[in-house]
Amino acid sequence: MVGNDYDVVVVGAGGDGPVAAWKLAEAGLSVLVLEAGPFYGNEQWPAPSERPGGEASSSVADLSGELLDEQFTTREFEMVNKLLFGPADHERGFWFRKFPGDGAILQCAGVGGTTLHYTGCHPRAYPASMDEQGHWPIAYAELLPYYREIEEMCEVTPAPVTAKEELFFRGAAAAGWPLLHDLNVTTSGYRPQPNAIRRPDPKLHVDAGYDGPVTYPEVRGDTLSLGNIAGNPHPRGAPYEEKAKRSSNVSFVPAALETGNVTIRPNAFVTDVRTETALGDAPTATGVDFRDTWSGRTERVDAEVVVLAAGAIETPRLWKNADLPDNEWVGRGLTIHFGDNVMGLWREADLDERLGKGTIDQHEGQDIAARFDYPGLGMLQTVGTTPGVGAILGFGASASGFTFQNDPADAPWDTMGRLAGPELKRLLADYRRMLQMLVVSDDRPHRRNGVTVTPGLADEHGPIPVVNYEPSEGDRKRRDELATIAAEILREAGAAHVHRSDSPPTALHVHSTMRMGYVLDEACEAYDVDRLFVADHSALSNGVGGANPTNTGQALAARTAERILDRHF
Ligand SMILES: Cc1cc2nc3c(=O)[nH]c(=O)nc-3n(C[C@H](O)[C@H](O)[C@H](O)COP(=O)(O)OP(=O)(O)OC[C@H]3O[C@@H](n4cnc5c(N)ncnc54)[C@H](O)[C@@H]3O)c2cc1C
Repeated sequence: MVGNDYDVVVVGAGGDGPVAAWKLAEAGLSVLVLEAGPFYGNEQWPAPSERPGGEASSSVADLSGELLDEQFTTREFEMVNKLLFGPADHERGFWFRKFPGDGAILQCAGVGGTTLHYTGCHPRAYPASMDEQGHWPIAYAELLPYYREIEEMCEVTPAPVTAKEELFFRGAAAAGWPLLHDLNVTTSGYRPQPNAIRRPDPKLHVDAGYDGPVTYPEVRGDTLSLGNIAGNPHPRGAPYEEKAKRSSNVSFVPAALETGNVTIRPNAFVTDVRTETALGDAPTATGVDFRDTWSGRTERVDAEVVVLAAGAIETPRLWKNADLPDNEWVGRGLTIHFGDNVMGLWREADLDERLGKGTIDQHEGQDIAARFDYPGLGMLQTVGTTPGVGAILGFGASASGFTFQNDPADAPWDTMGRLAGPELKRLLADYRRMLQMLVVSDDRPHRRNGVTVTPGLADEHGPIPVVNYEPSEGDRKRRDELATIAAEILREAGAAHVHRSDSPPTALHVHSTMRMGYVLDEACEAYDVDRLFVADHSALSNGVGGANPTNTGQALAARTAERILDRHF
């Protein structure tokens, strides 16, 4: 049985919650992690989507690579359905969240949270986003020791180069950009992606001539076969902790369980944060109420400290539904890295000349393995996808309507908008000679953007989050500049046709709705509620300049855990 009294209760076992749990448990505190979604690859839940299974897991011996292999297949559609944001029992549907326009919020429920989907990119924030944008109460240098700790735990390493990265690097160099060598990026240029994915087995190198199975133990580390968005169960046959992608369930969760001081209870949706108020004082957090998503029963847990780590949409939602003091920035200042997709298509002969073969084969290698940094604007990344995902991202939706409605005569791209009919078929038929670049802009926090709740719009856990997002002129300008650079790089790399999607806003990277310096103090403890901390991406004071945010969210969560220990234990 799970007890009901802990030193710390952590709400959410996503990207950042397990980092805080691990650090606090290492210091000897008893920690309960409550997670709304299921726990895959754990012997306590042999069929997590079909029946309730066990109640909680407190032992690393519960983790099973074999079970994870059964549950995480390489079938994309099945996995995308499995990793939807909803309860373990998929018969009950997913949890609907309202987002404007054609965009969507992409997040996962389950131990590992949205890192189950993520592509493992672990760059650091741009120092200028902390030291020069003025949103942060701490200096970039303060995060450096925590970055190093997280990067070691996640085995962050420069991604291997396959054809798509080589093509991109050549294009960027030809466009006059330098190769960057430092993890702390202060100037613009290109580099291999620092990924939280184990290095591939050397025998998979193109010159090694290996022709055997790509399963464990023959192959250890990354198998160079994409699959990260679908959970990445590679290498098949490997023990749980030896899976190549270091999503938080594979990296921090085992480390947390190893301490013997952590209990993880999945299928537990927290609906209330309880507080006590002594006369004249700010309220103090004393615990939480949660609802078992299988039985519907509500339970209560007491704790000395409560840590919210439910993500940048659900943490402010919980705060508001718990009727905690409403500072004007609670739920406000949402940044999503307002993004776009620019696609390059090559002629066979041009590729042959550059690569010695007539195809790029974007399905080989790691999903996202090369990047271009531009502090002040954001970043570009090459993306390797399967044809279906590529079609959706690059051609499936556009804020500009269909291609035939747009005339990009003076633009650096040949076509812009959504593709349909014969043109879609023609471009997709060239999938093996296509390279997608993801534009990720340094959008800035605005008060109008964020999460609210409306009493009339509720699910079984209370009013749902309603998200507002409208980029500013500055955000649009930064995105346009990056899209132009992307087109130039693709042209320099020899692309014969460049297509810009002009994608609608989609929340893939979600941050800054409970901003440090606005809602939280420099330790990430709430200004208005004692003993209530936030350790997820909502605590970030902005979108970290446009760099992928998880390394920074996790580094900050590690720092927050130390502050909790200093202040309260
Ligand atoms: C397709 C895709 C690719 C991505 N690739 C990258 C990448 O390469 N690099 C990168 O840095 N970022 C990437 N991201 C973003 C990254 O995954 C997230 O930024 C990161 O996981 C956020 O961490 P978090 O802890 O804030 O939230 P989450 O990881 O979303 O975790 C929140 C957890 O809290 C749980 N929860 C929510 N509400 C409650 C509640 N009331 N009670 C209990 N539990 C609750 C959720 O179920 C979830 O498990 C990607 C995202 C997507 C969708």
